[in-house]
Amino acid sequence: VFVCFEGGEGSGKSTQSRLLGDALRAEGYAVRLTFEPGDTVVGKEVRRIVLSPETGDLDDRTEALLYAADKAEHVETVVLPALARGEVVITDRYVDSALAYQGAGRSLDPAELEHVARWATGDLRPHLTVVLDLEPEAGLGRFSERDRIEGESLAFHQRVRQAFLDLAAADVDHYLVLDARADIDEIAAAIRERVAPLLGQ
Ligand code: C5P
Repeated sequence: VFVCFEGGEGSGKSTQSRLLGDALRAEGYAVRLTFEPGDTVVGKEVRRIVLSPETGDLDDRTEALLYAADKAEHVETVVLPALARGEVVITDRYVDSALAYQGAGRSLDPAELEHVARWATGDLRPHLTVVLDLEPEAGLGRFSERDRIEGESLAFHQRVRQAFLDLAAADVDHYLVLDARADIDEIAAAIRERVAPLLGQ
């Protein structure tokens, strides 16, 4: 079973992916918690390049291809092997982040971008994507621009948020959209309930 968490900055993706992982492990499931970008040797380098404020202006296509390289490496060396071992794979960000940040956020052709992301991942799709929805003003307020992306305009982050919501609305069977401002435990419980049928429960 392959579950993704998506959402804007400060939406609680890493907290909720960890809570889901903890809950499933407590029930005896083998779980591989992972994230993009950066959870491989190559990915760490990619993450440093794409997120460092020192990188400065990066061409949109260069950025998209770097994220795609991270994805290819991630799927091939982490996600697929764990799925083959029968583990539940939970990733903090996946293809939708590319569609939202490099597609809606930048001015790249969404169809071309989707093609690149699907090619990079061999079109491996999650059984469920959890979108933790939060208005950018609230999420960004939790940081003071740790990275290049957080320094983007509010309009950029609003396009990103809308892109996640549009992706979810277009494929409701494979998405769960939750208000990220709700109580942490309530969010975790809603996610756990939605994951149950995927595990045959
Ligand atoms: O989720 P996390 O905070 O680790 O993401 C790191 C940064 O990478 C975030 O600022 C996020 O907006 C950015 N990102 C991006 N495009 C992606 C994936 C992540 O701009 N495809």
